[in-house]
Amino acid sequence: MTGFATDTKVCPYCAETIKADAAVCRFCGRDLSPQAAQKKWYRQTWFLILTFLLVTPLWTLIVLTDPDQSTGVKVVAAILLGLYVVFICLPLAGSLLYM
Ligand SMILES: [Zn+2]
Repeated sequence: MTGFATDTKVCPYCAETIKADAAVCRFCGRDLSPQAAQKKWYRQTWFLILTFLLVTPLWTLIVLTDPDQSTGVKVVAAILLGLYVVFICLPLAGSLLYM
């Protein structure tokens, strides 16, 4: 791996070999700039665990809007959000109606 390896890198998203200076992958079009690599504060693992334990609906929204989140986690989040709406929001709305 000498010679050409210095000016190329492997895209972390699609695993294609691209130029080392590339800010955007030419194969999958994703942003590879250092700013993009840094996760937003509300997508840090500690914050996700905290929201999952304390405010699950918020956690589901963060996960569902995260483009880097895996499909499996998104499915779990969608199910939890659905359960939350059915068992918390609807009974609350119902009790308000009959007050
Ligand atoms: Zn790519």
